[in-house]
Parts: sequence; structure tokens; C-alpha cells
Amino acid sequence: FSCSARWHPPFLDMQVPLLGRGGGLDASSIHKTRIYSMRTLRTTIVSICAGLVVVATLSTYTPSILSTKMAAGSHIISQSVRQGLRVPPALARGSMGMRRTGLRAPMDTGRPGVNEMPWRSMYLRGSKPGVSVGASGGAYKGEHPYDYDLFVIGAGSGGVRASRISASHGAKVAVADDLDVGLGGTCVNVGCVPKKLFAYGSEITTEVADAKGFGWDYDKPGLDWKRLIDNKNSEISRLNGIYERMLNNAGVDVVKGRATVKDAHTVAVGDKTYSADKILVAVGGWPVMPDIEGKEHMITSNEIFYLKDAPKKAVIIGSGYIAVEFAGILHGYGADVDLLIRRDSILRGFDTDCGDYLRDAMIQQGVNIRKQTEAVKIEKRGDRDFLVHLSTGDVIEADVILCAIGRNPKTSGLGLEEVGVELAKNGGVVVKKDGQTSIPSIYAVGDCTDTLQLTPVALAEGHCFADTHFGNNPRTADLEDVATAVFSHPNLGTVGLPEDRALDKYGNIKVYKSEFRPLKHTVSGSDERSLMKIIVDKATDRVVGMHMVGAHAGEMMQGFAAAIKMRISKAQLDSVIGIHPTSAEEFVTMRSVSYERSKEEEDSKQKEPALAA
Ligand code: FAD
Repeated sequence: FSCSARWHPPFLDMQVPLLGRGGGLDASSIHKTRIYSMRTLRTTIVSICAGLVVVATLSTYTPSILSTKMAAGSHIISQSVRQGLRVPPALARGSMGMRRTGLRAPMDTGRPGVNEMPWRSMYLRGSKPGVSVGASGGAYKGEHPYDYDLFVIGAGSGGVRASRISASHGAKVAVADDLDVGLGGTCVNVGCVPKKLFAYGSEITTEVADAKGFGWDYDKPGLDWKRLIDNKNSEISRLNGIYERMLNNAGVDVVKGRATVKDAHTVAVGDKTYSADKILVAVGGWPVMPDIEGKEHMITSNEIFYLKDAPKKAVIIGSGYIAVEFAGILHGYGADVDLLIRRDSILRGFDTDCGDYLRDAMIQQGVNIRKQTEAVKIEKRGDRDFLVHLSTGDVIEADVILCAIGRNPKTSGLGLEEVGVELAKNGGVVVKKDGQTSIPSIYAVGDCTDTLQLTPVALAEGHCFADTHFGNNPRTADLEDVATAVFSHPNLGTVGLPEDRALDKYGNIKVYKSEFRPLKHTVSGSDERSLMKIIVDKATDRVVGMHMVGAHAGEMMQGFAAAIKMRISKAQLDSVIGIHPTSAEEFVTMRSVSYERSKEEEDSKQKEPALAA
């Protein structure tokens, strides 16, 4: 399906009969289309069929991948049209249509870490840097005295996206990465991707247990931890390679080493300096460690993915999503898990009901959640043999102590303050809505700023930056109603406002709540249950939040996120006919209001005792 001259020279020269009128196709390409012989038509059809077979074979058989591959194919065709190459009008028209509907490369697969698919390296290996590939046609021409139009620090989610798209708009780009975690940054190497792989693996014990009710008998499964780590590592290496090739093929210069900012237009890496019209800081975050005795014996999410043996007795410190996810993962892989949480609840910032529901479900599964408990000291007794002293006075044994109490921007030693870039207390780069810092030529995106620490957010911010500065399309990322999931056991999925924040914002809300046993577990024998909530603004009937704890909540909420983004009303949600039998159908069949809340009433009730006193 490739348009690359190296792969399919005949396809480049192909000229085909004009089958019907051009429709919305770019006029210049229609004029270039000429009537040709039946032989050429046959060649065309054979090429298209062969291309479709290749696309289908390349795809991993899921509809989403298939559609993104098709989108990539469509993109190439439309680029060929732009570059004045002759392609069949029907194909060109189709590709333009896909581009208009948003189904276009560069691909957004929706899969963390796989968003940066190497479509250019896969399909356009013969193309040269600087060739027009961007939505703007790659027309950007920088006029300045610097080496580069853009120097990006950090080749993680945000940095890679910004580099690649800027280059596709015609900018001359370099990106530096210190390779502390690997090319592709946190998400690919020590974040979303390996975490999700571990989560898949850890769910298998539950699946095996559930299988009994459906008639299956298995022996106790044996675990080869080394195989898990090896397989995970080879997938991550594959992704690292993809990232490197993708940047190279986009014409981005990759500089390996730690970068520091020297002035408003200069970056140093090792003993070399590079000047650039604009500098983009995309250095991400780094795990925070508490200052307690023996802290050197703890590991963070960076190391947990490389343990030589499966943990048997794990202590996890933290109540955020990383701590909660690893409690489920390690428990699923057979470890005894103690989760130390500072207060009574987990997942601050998420819907409180859902957090509490998940916490109780985890306790029921056997995770030992110690509320109002902190680690105060760690003692080493031997190799992977520790004692953890708790604030409650208890002392517990552990072979792995995972600290997951949060992440701070990785800006220390970067030279930003020295050149006048304002930093927040936690080291976060202070930026305006468009990512500009207090130094006009320096910008920042992703986890190193005070944004939502999520891969799709870093990607969106990097993409907007590139389009704004090099693609003649000024825009900022819309961070309202960003859906997200916690890959806990069971999952927690959420979009829009949690109940309390909705009450603060809207004053009067209606809450629809459903708690039930999923159909599967009526036979599996598992006592896992699901919780679903819909929050509605009473004045407008608008759905302002949807939350769920239950199997596949992450997958489910992505669809409802689109509905919320389109400002769906509860009446419209009610008009949707469900898919039966699924858990998701519950979201479109909840009719009775569980309760209503009024901020005014609750505030006045709180004041009453004070007045009485
Ligand atoms: P990063 O991806 O961290 O990239 C920054 C890059 O800059 C790194 O490669 C770093 O080494 C490099 N760098 C830093 N300083 C320098 C320097 N001075 N010179 C050169 N290079 C430098 N998000 C989700 O959306 N879904 C999830 O399921 C999810 N799970 C996660 C699980 C874990 C365990 C963790 C830790 C994070 C998870 N995240 C998840 C968050 C996600 O990984 C981040 O939001 C995302 O990676 C941020 O992208 P970024 O570009 O800002 O930074």
C-alpha cells in the first residue's frame, strides 16, 4: 500500500481512468488525472488489493488498529496528492474524507504508549526529512540565526509528539533525552505500558478462579516471573526502537544525553551546545521519596518493573493510583500486600464513593489496607529482607517496599531558574495556557508543568504546541472532562466531575447510583460487584460526571467521555438503547434518582451548630 518510490515505483507513476467526477478532491490532483489504458487499470486494482492484504496482515486483528492502519494508508495517499503524485481519485477522495473525519495519521490509537505509531517508518521509509507531511503542508520556514527552529528537552510522550509534528510542519528540530528511563519516556518504559502488561498478567489468577464456576478445572498455575520480565522487556525494547526510527524518519535530530538550559536560546548536552529559536521543556516527573531512616531500601515505580523475583511480601506506601494499581498487581501475582495509606480513603481527587468502594473491594480480596498509617523507619535484615516500622508502632516484614507517594517535575539541575524561568514550589514549570514560560522563547508541556499527569494530556499539549508555532494553527489542549482509569482490581473509570466537586460547581445536583453483581459472577462464584454513578446538574439536566468501579471500567468510560464532551443531557442518555447483556447498559437504564443534593442546604446545616453555640 506504500507510496514509497523504493517499494513500488509503478504505483508512483500510475495514472488511472477518471471514474466519475472528482467531488471534494483537491482540484490540482484531478487535473493531473488522465485517462489511461485498461492495462494500467488492472495494475491499479492489483496494487490496491495487494495493499489491502498487507494492511490487513499488518494489523493485529483489532478493529481499532485496523482503522488506524487504514488511516495511515489514507494519510499517505493524501500526502501523495499534495506532493503532486497521481493516485486514483477514488482512493484520494476516500483518504481526504478520512482526514476530515479525524481518522488520520499521525495516529492516535488511544492506547497509552502506542499513540506514537511509526507510520512514517512503516510506510514511507524512502522519504526525506523536510518533505511535506504535516497538516499545514510542511510550509514552515524559520527566519533566525539559530541552529534549530526548535530544541526539545525530553523524548517522552509530550516531547516526541511535539518534535515529530513540528518537523512535519517543516521545522528543523532536535530532541535530547538523558535515557534515564529510555526513549519514549515514562509511559513507554516505566509507566502506562509495562504497568498495563503487568495488570493483564495479574488478572489471570482471578480468571482462573472464576473459570471453576464455568466448568473448568485447572491445577494451581505456576509463575515464571523471569519470563514475564523478559517478555515485557522485549516489548519495551521494540517500542524504544520504534520511537528512535520514528524520530529519525521524521527528520528530527536525536541527541542522547542530559540537557541543561544555558540561556533563552541555548541548550547544552555534554560538551556541545545547540541554539534554537524556541526551546520546549518536556522533562516529565520523577518519584518522590519520604525522608525517613532506611529510605534507600525502598524502590519506586521505576524499579518495580525490573525485579528479579516475584515479590512475596510487599509493602506499598501511598494512596494514589500508582500505589493502588500495584497493590492489585502484586496481589494478583501472589504476594501478600500491605498498603499503607495516610488517611482513611484512597484515590484523592476521584469520586469519594468510588474510591471507598474500591478500597473495600480490595480489602475483601485480601489486600491488607492499613489506614492512617505511615512508614517511619526501614531496617535491612538481609537481601530483600526488611522490617518496616510503622507510625502505629507495628513492625512488618517485607521483601519489597514500593514507595508511590507521588511524582514531582524533574526540573532540578536543568538550569531553568538560572535563566529566569519561574518554577513552582514543587519544581513545576509555571506556564501560561499555551505553555509559554516567563522567558518568551522557552515553553513547557506535560508532567513537568502543573497539568494532569497523563500521557494523552502530554501528547495533546505537545501536538498543540507544534501546530501553534509551526503549523499556523494556534490552539490549546482542552483539558475539561478528561476521562481516565485506574487499572486496579476491579478497574475504576471516570469522566467529568466527582460528586462533591459537581455540588460545589453547580449547587444543585441529582445523583443516580447503581450497585450490582455482574452477570458473569452469578456463575463464576466471585463476590465482586460493580458500582456506577451518574451526576446530573439539576438546573440544566446536563450529565456532568460518570464514574464506575467494575470490570472493564477503563474501556467503558472512553465512549461515555465522548458523550459528556458533547454535553449530553440525562434525557438524551435515557434515549439510548442499551447493549444487552452488558454492564455498560446500566448507564443508559438508570431512571430513578438515588438522591439529590443542594449546596445551599448543606452549607446552612453546617452553620446551624455554630449559630446555636
Ligand atoms: P515523560 O514521559 O516522563 O518524558 C520525559 C523524558 O525527559 C524522559 O525520557 C526523561 O528521561 C527525559 N529527561 C528528563 N530530564 C532530562 C534532561 N535534563 N535532559 C534530557 N532528557 C531529560 N498515564 C496515563 O495516561 N495512563 C496510565 O495508565 C499511566 N500509568 C502510569 C503508571 C506509572 C507507574 C507512572 C509512573 C506514570 C503513569 N502515567 C500514566 C503517567 C504518564 O506516564 C505521564 O503522564 C507521561 O509519561 C508524561 O509525559 P511527559 O512527556 O510529560 O514526560
